[in-house]
Amino acid sequence: MYKILIVEDEPAIAENISYVLNSEGFETKWFATGIDAFNEFLANGSDLIILDVGLPDINGFELCKKIRKESNVPVLFLTARSDEIDKIVGLEIGGDDYVVKPFSPRELSARIKAILRRVDQKGEVEPNLLFQIFEDKNRIKYKDKTLDLSRYEFKILSILVKRPGSVYSRDKLMDLVWDDPLMSMDRTIDTHIKNIRKKLKEIEPSLDMIKTHRGVGYSLKEYK
Ligand code: CA
Repeated sequence: MYKILIVEDEPAIAENISYVLNSEGFETKWFATGIDAFNEFLANGSDLIILDVGLPDINGFELCKKIRKESNVPVLFLTARSDEIDKIVGLEIGGDDYVVKPFSPRELSARIKAILRRVDQKGEVEPNLLFQIFEDKNRIKYKDKTLDLSRYEFKILSILVKRPGSVYSRDKLMDLVWDDPLMSMDRTIDTHIKNIRKKLKEIEPSLDMIKTHRGVGYSLKEYK
């Protein structure tokens, strides 16, 4: 699972970002100061850093320079001012991309996925980068195409996409998905999985995104 550090001193913005990224299968950690984030990065690393330019303790540009002395981790800037944009684009600060406040978290998430796909060294990206979940609309996009899913298919696939590699038993899936699990039989999960697989294959025949763990259950495939 990709780990993303959010460095942002406004809690409401940070919460918003965390919520959307978590719903799309990313692990996030939030820091309100640059120094705390930097120490965390040195100690535990990260796959990408979302970095607000205006922080209370250190300017985002300065922090990015410090990070660049240690690592090539992708950095996406959050900025509110056009003169900051000029600086990001014009100077050698070492950022990979930026979004301008106010922004939609969906837009941010799409940018992050694009950066991660670009920098993925192995050429095989984590499967959750291929999905976008729209919780409010019960809709999932796969490779930028909307899947035509039933209510149960939507729920099952959302669960799998949110935790790539985690294996869910049929019982567990039924508990999470059905309002009244006792009313349905075990086989129904298999049938729904079969339908989801078919719909994914219609969009991308060469990939098998859902892994069967014989006698155990199902997971979203993961590469890492
Ligand atoms: Ca700020």
